[in-house]
Amino acid sequence: MNTSHEQALRAGIVATARAMNAAGINRGRAGNVSARLVHAGFDGFLITPTGFRYDAMGEDDVAAVAQDGTASGPHLPSSEWRFHRDIYRERPEVGAIVHSHAAFATTLACLDRGIPPFHYMVARAGGRDIRCAPYATFGTQELSDHAVRALAGRRACLLAHHGMIAVGASLDAALELAIEVETLAEMYWRALQVAEPALLSDAEMAKVLEKFRTYGRPARSNVS
Ligand SMILES: [Zn+2]
Repeated sequence: MNTSHEQALRAGIVATARAMNAAGINRGRAGNVSARLVHAGFDGFLITPTGFRYDAMGEDDVAAVAQDGTASGPHLPSSEWRFHRDIYRERPEVGAIVHSHAAFATTLACLDRGIPPFHYMVARAGGRDIRCAPYATFGTQELSDHAVRALAGRRACLLAHHGMIAVGASLDAALELAIEVETLAEMYWRALQVAEPALLSDAEMAKVLEKFRTYGRPARSNVS
């Protein structure tokens, strides 16, 4: 019997997955969404099942994965469950993770490019830039290790030749950041069609980060 807290998280995962499609950051079955779940002796997370169309997915289709990797539910968890597990283990402040193959972020990732400080909003991801993790085969521990490293001190990263990850304290915060990262990736890509844009200095980005930390922080995006 699921608790009301778990049921609310399941509903939130389904809603977030559908919102990814509506926002245009996910096409087909490529992305995945998870939320941390710790209750009644269970320490792990809920995650979208593998190979499922989001519009056909219901709350009971969401899989549960414990920190030891044991999965339960009617379907297998997303093949990317490893990096979700490892991010939750390494980052206690993270409550939700969104992974997508959003077109512009993935275009940059296919060029092995992260997003440098060409725009001050890059700081929304928690640092002066958004790193691109080196390539490794999907679903592997190697990819997970690369992702955790690229996320150090950040709430988002790109994955070379693959896609992007955004994390947050809540599903809403992770989704909002994923959409922001895709918006920044599109602007950076557009700028690159004309020229390499000038970058903001480390001192300026430090100032912006401080402003976000103290009074520019949106209420729903409170992971630091
Ligand atoms: Zn993927």
